[in-house]
Amino acid sequence: MYHHSSHASHPAAGSAAGVLDPVPADSRDAIHFQRCTWCATAMFHRLLCPVCQGSELRTERSEGVGTVRHSTVVHRNTPAARNVSLIEMAEGFVVRGRVMGPPVGIHSGDRVRLSTAQDPVRGEPVFQLLDEPYRGAWT
Ligand SMILES: [Zn+2]
Repeated sequence: MYHHSSHASHPAAGSAAGVLDPVPADSRDAIHFQRCTWCATAMFHRLLCPVCQGSELRTERSEGVGTVRHSTVVHRNTPAARNVSLIEMAEGFVVRGRVMGPPVGIHSGDRVRLSTAQDPVRGEPVFQLLDEPYRGAWT
């Protein structure tokens, strides 16, 4: 029923997903994801909703904050070990990317923030660890 997103005044929306802004110009440094307009599931690089198979997806911009869900150190074909991590973003979708820092220092549950949306070499998003304890800087 909501074809228009014109009524944006929704102060009670405490979730980070309530962003109605158009895609900004600095899209290089942001991850954009798709959200199903039918069931509101967030997903990344999908053509169909994995939940309801809906094809009406709209693009939203992630705030770039997430949590490491899984991290693997890869030695193959690289002079130095690097990690491949699955990052669960605050919006609820999962992105595969790299976390900067010592490969053995990345653990599940670590909080990370997007550093570069596209690694110039591999085209993957790159994250950096948020070392500081949780201070409620984002809610
Ligand atoms: Zn759906």
